[in-house]
This record gives sequence, structure tokens and C-alpha cells, in this order.
Amino acid sequence: MQEEPKKTQKAHSTKIQVVALKALKKKVGKENAGRMEQGGGKGAASFMSPGDLADPMTDPHFVVAFRRRMLFPEPLQNDKHECQHKNGSKTCNIKHVADHGRHAVACQLGGGVMGKHDELKYVVGGWAKDQGKRPQYEQEIPKWNKLGEMDSRGRPKRAILDVVYWHEGRQACVDVSLVDGSELVGGGNPKYAIPRREKTKHVRYPGPDLYPFVIDARGRWGKEALAWAASLVRHLDEAEREQEIRRLRILVSNCVQTGVAEQIIAAGKTRE
Ligand SMILES: [Zn+2]
Repeated sequence: MQEEPKKTQKAHSTKIQVVALKALKKKVGKENAGRMEQGGGKGAASFMSPGDLADPMTDPHFVVAFRRRMLFPEPLQNDKHECQHKNGSKTCNIKHVADHGRHAVACQLGGGVMGKHDELKYVVGGWAKDQGKRPQYEQEIPKWNKLGEMDSRGRPKRAILDVVYWHEGRQACVDVSLVDGSELVGGGNPKYAIPRREKTKHVRYPGPDLYPFVIDARGRWGKEALAWAASLVRHLDEAEREQEIRRLRILVSNCVQTGVAEQIIAAGKTRE
């Protein structure tokens, strides 16, 4: 029997994978297909195999993150179904049943969403430092201030950028943010959530100095986040470059999935 050339085999198996994935998405329904979409792409599941490049997640967080990735409607076992997020003495108490963690992730009470964003900022900045940059955090960039406009708390709008460093005589500004595209209220197409956020950031902070670093709460990376990371390791040889990008993917995945799992655990735990 004549051996099939390797290239053809690869093309053939890719084709089979595409068809199988399409069939699977059809089988799980539109909402879960959106969740699979946002949990796709390189690095989305890096928390599952950190190797020796990063510390693994803690077991309780890992179990929740894994169940969520496996599309369990209740990522937390024995969830109490009434959100226990707190802000001072106020408890959220909003009912959430089998919602794939939608409420817990979006719930603003107790500052969980901001917390996740904060940690991710330090992960991204820390990695930039490892690449020889000197990142500073939460820097005001006066050219983007809009002091004539008010923010949601009624204060003049100042442009505070997450990670800022000098590069070739310019200030490079990385704005880190999270979306939860597959849980959009109103059923918008999940796959537009990241590009839309990137665009919004460019409108708010115009010019070439802004790098939006957008990650979906299910793991997918924004194209601009990856382009920024690639630009910082361009000078390394191929093996080092791949290792550094892989390490960043693991650090980001661990950080985001730990944050998401923490939100879900805190929302569904037993009343104290
Ligand atoms: Zn809540």
C-alpha cells in the first residue's frame, strides 16, 4: 500500500477535527457552543497543565475551573444557590441556579471582578519585567484625561493605565481587562466580545501607545494581547520565545481561572 504523504495526513486529520468540533457544538446547543468558543484558542486551558513553568492552582479552585470548562451547569458542587458575595454588611442574595457561574462571575458586590483584574495586571506587568521592562502600575496618562467629563462616581475622568513602561522613548501603556463573552445578556454573539472591548479601549485611548490586553473569563485570548506579548520576546531565539509565551499563557490562565473559581466559590458557599 502506498504511504500517504504526512502533509496530506495532517490536512485530513485537521479536517476531521473541524467536522467533529462542528458536530459537537451542534449537539451541546447554542449557549454551550458559545462557552466552548470562548474557552478555545491557545492558552485557554493552560491552567490544566502548568508543567514546571508555574505553580499549579489549588485543588478547590482547580475543581471548579475544570467543572466549568467541562460545561457543568453548576461548577461548584453543593452550591447554595443564593449569592453570598458581601460588601460590608450587605449580602447579595441573588438566586443563581445552574447558570454556569454567570451570576457569580458578573456579580459586582464585594469587588470580585475588580480583584481578578487587579491580579491579572500584576501577572502581565511581572512578566513584562522578566522581559527587561520596568513596569509601573496605575499610572495617570494626562494626554488621555477627560477632565471635563465625569466618571460613574461623579469624578472628572482621569486616564489611569494598568501597566506602563518606557520603550524607545515612548510610554507603552497596557490596559488589562476581562470579558465574559459567552454569558452576554441578550444573547449577542460571544465571539465579538473581545474585539469589541479592544475597539472600545482604542476609542478611549487613541494612538499607537495603547495595548489592550483582553482575556475572556473562559480563557480565550484577545489577538492584541498575544501580539503585545510576541513583541516583547521578538529578540529571543525560537525555543526561548516559545517557552516565555507558554509561561505567560499558564500564568494568565491560572490567574483568571483562580479568580473566576474564587467568585463562584464565594457566591455559592454555605451561609456562615
Ligand atoms: Zn451576587
